Amino acid sequence: MNISDALIYWYINHKRDLPWRESNDPYHIWLSEIILQQTRVEQGKEYYLRFINTYSTIGFLSSASEDDVLKMWQGLGYYSRARNLHYTAKYITRELGGKFPDTYAALLDLKGVGPYTAAAIASIAYGLPHAVVDGNVMRVLARLFDVSEPVNSTEGAKIIKNLADEILDPARAGDHNQAVMELGAVICTPRSPKCSECPVAAKCLAKARNTIEERPVKLKKQKAKLRYIHYAVLDYGGGLVFRQRTEEDIWKGLHDFESEEGSAEISPVKWAKQLENTFPGMRITALPSAPEFEAVHLLTHRRIEAKFWRFGVSGITPNKSPYKSVSKKDIERIAVPRLVHKYLEKSKWL
Ligand code: SF4
Repeated sequence: MNISDALIYWYINHKRDLPWRESNDPYHIWLSEIILQQTRVEQGKEYYLRFINTYSTIGFLSSASEDDVLKMWQGLGYYSRARNLHYTAKYITRELGGKFPDTYAALLDLKGVGPYTAAAIASIAYGLPHAVVDGNVMRVLARLFDVSEPVNSTEGAKIIKNLADEILDPARAGDHNQAVMELGAVICTPRSPKCSECPVAAKCLAKARNTIEERPVKLKKQKAKLRYIHYAVLDYGGGLVFRQRTEEDIWKGLHDFESEEGSAEISPVKWAKQLENTFPGMRITALPSAPEFEAVHLLTHRRIEAKFWRFGVSGITPNKSPYKSVSKKDIERIAVPRLVHKYLEKSKWL
């Protein structure tokens, strides 16, 4: 049995029961792949079902508002995925007459779809012979073929891609790809791989050479940059003043609060004056002496240290885009980053 046959045979008999595996519909495959890009399978399952139950077709997803899509995405992080999802649904519905692209090149043209996702949809939905390479596949191949080149270097990535293409069974590309990924997810795991249950153990070079622990080799990641954010939580009694993030930055489209960035400390007295200047007609009636809530939030290349300062305000509360005065009962309806959600929960706004 060659590697692909052994993997597919094992996969068919051992695969986990996952909702997107019940279908070859490209909409379902695409949605699951976008959700799973940075998300654990267990969490992804819940969101996938939520989306499919609410938007059973790409047409329904395309007619939702971006706010509703972001709200449904809330908690998954990396919100550009949700915005791209919505954009692409509208593009396919309006520009392509609702027909999902069915070639690798056309899939790659979709916003938010890279080589991995294009190969996954092409192979699983259409049976096209394109090998997928994701983190799981890299690890499996680096061990199977004992690749000593760092897999995140240009040279190493090329070696892995060639190996992935080489072992692909073009006639069963969908099952083959899913089998390699599944092996990486449940057997050939980063730590303590279950080699005794592995269907390709007899062919594994890292196992034969005792180098499993050292594979895959990776170049060191850059250190996370530190970013301080001070939030002014403007409390007008019946609710809070939110700001929708519109810049090309983290959390675009989501709501947080007016903020100051740059230094670890801030003077609430000076800031209060500044706030009154920024929002004419609004008066600060209660100054915070300390942050109401502090949290550290980690993103891929960033460490955010956030402080939430609650100011009592009266007069004219800001209500012009990007600001919105939101009453307490409506706060749960707006899409916010996880960090802000934590604050709102902690301070009993939710
Ligand atoms: S034998 Fe072990 S290290 Fe090699 S592919 Fe299988 S699980 Fe991974």
